[in-house]
Amino acid sequence: MIVLRNASRVYPGAVTALHDVSLDIRQGELLAIVGPSGSGKSTLLNIMGTLDRPTSGSVTLGGYDVAALSDRRLSALRSRLLGFVFQQFHLSDGLTAAENVATGLLYAGVPRRRRRAMAVEALARVGLARRVGHRPRQLSGGERQRVAIARALVNEPALVLADEPTGALDSRTGQTVLELLHRLHEEGSTIAIITHDREIAGSLPRRIEIRDGRLVADTATAVAP
Ligand code: ADP
Repeated sequence: MIVLRNASRVYPGAVTALHDVSLDIRQGELLAIVGPSGSGKSTLLNIMGTLDRPTSGSVTLGGYDVAALSDRRLSALRSRLLGFVFQQFHLSDGLTAAENVATGLLYAGVPRRRRRAMAVEALARVGLARRVGHRPRQLSGGERQRVAIARALVNEPALVLADEPTGALDSRTGQTVLELLHRLHEEGSTIAIITHDREIAGSLPRRIEIRDGRLVADTATAVAP
């Protein structure tokens, strides 16, 4: 699905935010990428999400070497293979839930009418069948995040990258969102959750721990700190 080999990212000013990280994520996994603030989680997310390229090392997504692709081909690959969920939901206020979800299909070449049907189906999967016409401000925080999850899933991506998906929610609502991610995983989705919360990480089948830009533990390969 996605393979990183010795990936490093050095920012201008010689900050090494990611240092020689190698990891494999296989189809059907549910895993946490966990580390304290400043440990390099966002940098790793950007590299895995192909939003940024490593300074050295390689990233292979769905069998394609990311370094060999033009920006245009890479963004086509990204929209076909990846779904993103963000802490702050990133929904458009002027669009209904169904329209927000349908934007996940804009670049996939799906005809308009079909986009709406798929969006409604994705909203039903996250328990929001009766909220398709609501706008984000008419929804609770938990419901907004479920809309964002429906948008990430509507295109049936190979991998969903969720960046602190419960970070903006109270703990009870956060728990509901986590339960939803667990259920979607049971239904076959591959999901990586980026979090600083050790409790959330501890509830997931696989944990990859990073500190100071280095991978210090991976329960799948038994890399010990
Ligand atoms: P986290 O998401 O775990 O909080 P980040 O990946 O955001 O960690 O940051 C890792 C390190 O890289 C930090 O020391 C941060 O200050 C630094 N960093 C992040 N982005 C940049 C950038 N664009 N330019 C320079 N340094 C950066």
